[in-house]
Amino acid sequence: MTGVRKGPFVVSRQRDEPRLCSHSEVEGAPLNAAEVLQLVDVTRAYPGGVTAVDGVGLTVRQGEFVAVVGPSGSGKSTLLHLVGLLDRPTAGTIRVAGYDTGALPDRSLAALRARAIGFVFQQFHLAPGVRALDAVADGLLYTGVARARRRDRAAETLHQVGLGERLTHRPHELSGGERQRVAIARALVKRPDVILADEPTGNLDSAAAETVLELLRELHAAGTTIVVITHDRGIADSLPRRVRMRDGRIVSADQRREVNP
Ligand code: ADP
Repeated sequence: MTGVRKGPFVVSRQRDEPRLCSHSEVEGAPLNAAEVLQLVDVTRAYPGGVTAVDGVGLTVRQGEFVAVVGPSGSGKSTLLHLVGLLDRPTAGTIRVAGYDTGALPDRSLAALRARAIGFVFQQFHLAPGVRALDAVADGLLYTGVARARRRDRAAETLHQVGLGERLTHRPHELSGGERQRVAIARALVKRPDVILADEPTGNLDSAAAETVLELLRELHAAGTTIVVITHDRGIADSLPRRVRMRDGRIVSADQRREVNP
């Protein structure tokens, strides 16, 4: 594995590495894997008349780092849940890693989610009392990786996110920023096609938030595709692409060549 050291993290290159898990768990051949996420006319209406996502079209290609922004209630989380295969749209097409997810039965959808999607949440979602090493190894559950190998991969990934000295620490023994880095390692350990992060810095002070953001930037520089919901204007403005939502629709999805460091 090639490693690049840039800042405090050692981030492995992912683009050309073989996948940990085969596509055979998911039926059907991928259509165009360079397009990691593709939404065509996607709608999610809730019973009672709320249309949280309303006819959205969006393509995210391999290696992109996209900020999803918009006022509260504009549909950002619903969109993330849909592309994260935690929810199904009421209309439209969602392709993940080239698979038309509407055509997949629940079991295949779960396999695709386990293999292709890494989630990071504002609240970290680390179980109390569970060591960082085990929390990250759990990120490989349902991916077909043998148990002993899961531990090795978890240790490697914790080193990558700068937590090589914290393998046996439990959440209450870690700072907020360190907890979020454990959560990122848990998402990253399976080398997902995309990391989906919902306000990953929302619970952190500004110094910890900057460290987490720097880690995400380095992962992106090493080839990881990342979609992040953020309320933080500074973060959004520093990312190469911003998708703005309002009332369930995408109002702009600009792409910038220049990236502020
Ligand atoms: P955001 O993440 O931008 O704050 P959400 O995706 O959480 O927006 O919500 C979009 C809209 O969908 C809001 O009006 C919200 O109240 C509504 N909504 C979200 N989840 C549900 C649900 N489970 N049932 C009904 N309405 C919901």
